[in-house]
Parts: sequence; structure tokens; C-alpha cells
Amino acid sequence: MEGCILEAEEIIPELNHIELERCRRQMMLPDFTLEHQKRLKASTALIAGIGGLGGTAAIYLAVAGIGKMIFAHYGNLTISNMNRQILMKHDWIGKSRVVQGKKTIEEINPDVEVEIYDERTSEDNVDKLLNGVQIAISARPNFHERRILNNACVRQGIPMIEAAMNGMEGYLFNIIPGITPCLNCIYPEDNPEWEEFGFPVLGAVSGLLGCLMSIEAIKILTGYKKPLLNKLLYFDAGGMEFKEFKAYKREDCIICKHLPFTKRKTQILSELYDYSC
Ligand SMILES: [Zn+2]
Repeated sequence: MEGCILEAEEIIPELNHIELERCRRQMMLPDFTLEHQKRLKASTALIAGIGGLGGTAAIYLAVAGIGKMIFAHYGNLTISNMNRQILMKHDWIGKSRVVQGKKTIEEINPDVEVEIYDERTSEDNVDKLLNGVQIAISARPNFHERRILNNACVRQGIPMIEAAMNGMEGYLFNIIPGITPCLNCIYPEDNPEWEEFGFPVLGAVSGLLGCLMSIEAIKILTGYKKPLLNKLLYFDAGGMEFKEFKAYKREDCIICKHLPFTKRKTQILSELYDYSC
């Protein structure tokens, strides 16, 4: 199959008895099998931004038993990060976030490998960050870096989970090249409401979105259940309203218009992972 989602014959790793016991409760889920768990163990995720959003997603990917994560986040921890960045501890203020984030994950689940880059996502490093990756978590606080990641994921056929919040609101959609619209289809122009530094947010709102991102990543990586496809999930936690909007591919999208978006490809993915496209 095209793209970087794992195929059945690529599932190799065996799980040790601690890993099996750690994931025992999720393997009690109806239809969640050892093969699903092995697919997760065989997977690598890029977490582009380990703040309130990506840090939360990383924790739940770690406890679920993902094999490897690559953390990319530039800069040191500040006190104003601490209302939402649950990978971090107060005593670590002033220290590198990726170094400390790796430490937290290793303490939570020592069977997860973590590779770190104290860097922003850029044209120069994006291919390095995506090397060996099967899914990307888009969690940087600016459109510039998200576009670079989207463009590289489309180019390389790597699924990307896109989510962002502002105040009490959040959105999420999945980008699977050739199957769904890309970030540029949905946002051909930057959202002027985004303020990279100092946007208001309740930590639990970014945490909620981070949880949703990890759930979608686990579904896409393992083939368990059905990820959100060609839809955008929006919520306003203020009124506790959740809505879905249909997401359309932009025919003139300069990033993904070359992709075939064939029915056949959709069917292949559907057969492999029981997606409802
Ligand atoms: Zn597009």
C-alpha cells in the first residue's frame, strides 16, 4: 500500500511480559487484538510540539505502548507553560523541554524509545524529523511550522493529526494524503486569530485535544476502529458543544492537488483497516 501506514506483513516486534501486562486492559477492548498492539509497538510518531497539546498526546501514546516517539520543540520551560504542559515539573523551569519531556516518558513507560530535537520545524529539518515516522502530531503554536509539516507529510504520504485550540475552543482533523484534504485545503490562508505567544487557554482544553489526537493516532496506526476522515471536529468547551463539519479537498490546492484521490485507494485503505470512508 502507498503511504507509510504499517502493513500487516511489516508487523514484527514481540512484546515482553511487562508490556503485555501494561496493555492488558486495552487488549480487553472488543476486537482489540495482539496484532493491534504489535502494530503500535512497531510505530514511530513525530510529536512536533510537546506543549499542552503534543505533550498530552505523547503521554497517552506512551502508556498505550507506542514503540518510539520523536520530540521536536525549541526552547526552555517557563512558568507560564505550567498551566497546561503536563510532561513538565515546576523544578524544571529554565531547562530544555525536550530533554525533560523524554525523561518523563521514560519514567512513565521505559519501553518507549524517545529521540529529541531542541528545534523548531523548518524546511531544513523536516525530512530528518519525519525519518522512519508513520504518523505526525501537529502541535506547534503557529501556522508556519504546521504548513511545513503538512507539506512534507503530503509529499511523503505520512498521515498527520492536526488540532489546535484557542480559549475554550478547539478543532481536530486527520490528514491522510490521497484520502483526505490537507491543511492547506482547509486553511489556504493563515488564521489571523492565532497569536503564537500569549493566546488564552485552559490547560484541560489543550489536554482534551491532546487525548483526542492520541486516540486518532492509535486508530490510524493500528487499524482499530474508524478515524475521523474528511471531517473537522470542532468543540466549544464553554458551552460543552461538539460539532462535526464536512471537510472538502480543494481542487486547486497547491500542496495536494496532484494526489489521485482515487476510489480504489480509498477502498484499499478501507479493506485494510475497516475504515468507513
Ligand atoms: Zn490540500
